[in-house]
Amino acid sequence: MKEKYKYINYKNYRLSIKWILPIICIIIILSFLGFGYIKSLTYKNIHKNISELGQQTVTQLNSSIEEQKKFVETIVDSINKGYFSNESEIFDNFSANLENYHFTRLAILDKSGNGITSDGHIVTNYPITNEFFDFDKVYLSENRKSTISNNQINIYSKAFYLNGQERVLFATVYTEDYKDILLRKLYNGLGGTFLINDNGIVLIDSFDIIKDNNVNLYDFILNKYNVQDNQKIKIDEMKKNIKNKTRGTFDIKIDKEKYFINYENIGINDWYVINVVPESAIAKELNLFIAISLGVCVFINFIIISICVYVDISNQIKNRKLYKSAYIDPITLLGNENYFKEYSKLFLKSYNENKFLLAIDVNKFKVINNLYGYDFCNKILNVLGEKLKTGIPSNNITCRLYSDVFAIILETTEDIEQVLKKIYKDISIIEVDNIVIHLNVSIGVYKIKKYDTDINKILDKAYMACKQIKGTYSNYYYMFDEALENSLLKEEDIEVSMEDALEKKEFKIIYQPKFDTKNEKIVGAESLVRWYKNDTIIMPDSFIPLFEKNKFILKLDLYIFEQVCKDLAYWKEKFDVNIRVSVNVSKEHFVNENFIQEYIDITDKYNIDRSNLELEITESATLDKNIDVLKIVNKIKSYGFRISLDDFGTGYSSLAMLQELPIDVIKIDKVFVDKANLNSDKNMINYIVLIAKQLGTEIVVEGVETKEQAEFIKSLECDIIQGFYYSTPIEKEKMEKYFIKDDTILL
Ligand code: C2E
Ligand code: CA
Ligand code: CA
Repeated sequence: MKEKYKYINYKNYRLSIKWILPIICIIIILSFLGFGYIKSLTYKNIHKNISELGQQTVTQLNSSIEEQKKFVETIVDSINKGYFSNESEIFDNFSANLENYHFTRLAILDKSGNGITSDGHIVTNYPITNEFFDFDKVYLSENRKSTISNNQINIYSKAFYLNGQERVLFATVYTEDYKDILLRKLYNGLGGTFLINDNGIVLIDSFDIIKDNNVNLYDFILNKYNVQDNQKIKIDEMKKNIKNKTRGTFDIKIDKEKYFINYENIGINDWYVINVVPESAIAKELNLFIAISLGVCVFINFIIISICVYVDISNQIKNRKLYKSAYIDPITLLGNENYFKEYSKLFLKSYNENKFLLAIDVNKFKVINNLYGYDFCNKILNVLGEKLKTGIPSNNITCRLYSDVFAIILETTEDIEQVLKKIYKDISIIEVDNIVIHLNVSIGVYKIKKYDTDINKILDKAYMACKQIKGTYSNYYYMFDEALENSLLKEEDIEVSMEDALEKKEFKIIYQPKFDTKNEKIVGAESLVRWYKNDTIIMPDSFIPLFEKNKFILKLDLYIFEQVCKDLAYWKEKFDVNIRVSVNVSKEHFVNENFIQEYIDITDKYNIDRSNLELEITESATLDKNIDVLKIVNKIKSYGFRISLDDFGTGYSSLAMLQELPIDVIKIDKVFVDKANLNSDKNMINYIVLIAKQLGTEIVVEGVETKEQAEFIKSLECDIIQGFYYSTPIEKEKMEKYFIKDDTILL
């Protein structure tokens, strides 16, 4: 059996995958969800950042342009104030500051586009549109080509009057320089900024990818890169928004790379600043964020799993402790009765003809216990357990069921008698603490049959077989056989029909009269039950032990008691006789004192004088540790019943205990009468009579069968005699004849 002793050798704790696995799965799923959430948070964050970046760019751009515009205003203002009389005075005055404002040169032109620049170039017929010629505010042009240097330039312009003539001041900037000053490369040059007008024409591009003039950013992107339709929509939307002068942030996939884009109106010339950051540019930041999140996830998972593992292991420890206390016998470290019953089932699952159950009882272990003491005997049991377990074929379950009783279920192809012989030999001599102990055991053997499934029944059969040997000494084992099977069948039969029998009044009482030892007149009777089943009379010895086991005796005794009370009431009425009757009360009642009330209720119902009722309790009831016999007997006595101690002399009750019990009668058991013809036992019965006398009780001697016995008993100082010699148990009607003969001593 694999299960055997796993509780002893099992030292490593195994995690129960059963529930750790689902937890890990849940954690992984949660991590993924959490991770997704973190990612979306990150994206949101990037959108926010890039939009902030856009606004910063706008502010910066605005302030730079405003400064430049202010410079131009200042020049025009001072011209208007009449500080200068010609162009060269103006140029002389402001040329030194040009560089500070990133201007390349100044120029003053008339309406036809003719004029001079601050660095001495003559300009002729420069195409001047109306926007340039604004007297109120500074105009900033879109990109155009310089006629002087061929560079891309932007022009700030404002009109004024010089000496009464309309003139316009140009302050030019190289677009190229502009880019460096105004538009930032973002994220170490991986990201960048476009400045476009509301038609999408690129004015400046910090990426340096657009070289030509008049390039439309939307067309450029769509033509140059591979943009899928669902992404194009986003560009269209931006286009629309820019036209409507609103701002926005979005991300878009272009050529497999994701870009975060923000567009802001800068408030000058309907120009827009567009910040573009590829995902790869922020990957480092993103990765760090993700790595931290991942680390946190792993840490939390680790904590959760650790807690799970801790809980699991502490559960296992707890379970193991529970298991140990529920299944392990602490003395032998073998399994206990629970264990045996639980694991034996596995043996019964499949059948083959080599399986046996052995019930092993150590003979006279009580004597050894008294001799050597409790601790030493525990050691004996321990060694015995070990020898039993190891001395038999390995496929076995060996357990100690209780006190000195062991049970083994085993499978063996060896001859079972040889196995039994070996067990008997192995354990006949045991050495504990250098003391050699000779043990004698009785082994009840049951060969497991095909249809055996109930371990309790099998165990009962092995016990039954074991009981056949006890006391015989002729053999040490007994195989459960047909005779036992039949008696078991009989038991089953009885159990099936007992309730019915009570209902059908199949249980009847007969009375065995008791006689005064001196004058031999009837003084009372003992009620005895008989079962009239079909045409046979079943004697109490065949069913009382079984009824005591299944507790049916509680019902039966009560029934018999009521019948006796009925008879007493009838006799009183019909014959005016008050005879004393004793009734047997099984010790099973004594477990709970409530039965006394039921007995009282019955005597009240039939109006019986309780001093006419003698309750016979067996001496063995007084020895049962679970029964508070003193309390119960006192209670019975307090209601007026008489108490008789039945089968006296067979139970070894202590004299001290007997002295305390308020007993009225002692019934000396038949065995003493039987042996009274032997001289030595004559002495024995003398002693018992002496003890009874000491206790001051009435003495009844039962089982007197012969004249010799009767003579002998009469020679002793006994009060009452009961036995076949005087009368066998008789039916109620026969009892009544005594009343008519008027032989009764009325008590
Ligand atoms: P017990 O209480 O010791 O009853 C005496 C038994 O000895 C009776 O056996 C009786 O018939 C038998 N007996 C009496 N005189 C002689 C004799 O001279 N020679 C021999 N050989 N036997 C004699 P019975 O009626 O078979 O009862 C057996 C036992 O069954 C009783 O032993 C008692 O323990 C139990 N019993 C009987 N009726 C009841 C009952 O109603 N309730 C309970 N709980 N037990 C009962
Ligand atoms: Ca009796
Ligand atoms: Ca008796």
